[in-house]
Amino acid sequence: MINNKDLILSGRTKTRAWFKKNIYYVGLAVSVLVLGLAITLTVVLKNIDTKEVGGNENTAIVFAMPIENATILTAYSGNTLIYSETLGHWEAHKAVDLQATEGAEVVSALSGTVTSITTNLLEGTRITITHEDGLITIYGSLSTSVEVAVGDAVTKGELIGYVANSAGTETAMGAHLHFEVLLNGIKTDPTAYLPISDK
Ligand SMILES: [Zn+2]
Repeated sequence: MINNKDLILSGRTKTRAWFKKNIYYVGLAVSVLVLGLAITLTVVLKNIDTKEVGGNENTAIVFAMPIENATILTAYSGNTLIYSETLGHWEAHKAVDLQATEGAEVVSALSGTVTSITTNLLEGTRITITHEDGLITIYGSLSTSVEVAVGDAVTKGELIGYVANSAGTETAMGAHLHFEVLLNGIKTDPTAYLPISDK
């Protein structure tokens, strides 16, 4: 009579015999698994690495210049304070100001959807465009006559508005475009995305 213990034992012996017979294939399967894991881990670590560096993690993304042939008037300052001539005090400037003439055409840096248009004394007219990959671009110091409405889909390089003579907190600078970029909700240096040489 065969009891349960014998069955288990014979099962184990069979398994062992099977492993011995197929040791080559078992080895091969394990190798493939380890190699696959190693590749996955490398890719994951590489992604984490890129994210920690900050700046333009979407290195393939290059904006259209919001203003043709623009040069930078005021750089992105991160947490460094720079002097505001208009306000007469030091403050962080988490944007770039692009030199422009009054009425210069402003175009969308990327394709996306217009998510906000506001006008106030401090910032003039501002257009916000939401893009893919967690990116948002904001165009400030615009004139009140805009070419888009909230909800409009825009393409990269499409005309959205015009530079005002000057606006609000940056009046002393004269006509310019105040350009902000947000990546995953955090203000980031727009020059990482702009096709300009003096980065
Ligand atoms: Zn500015």
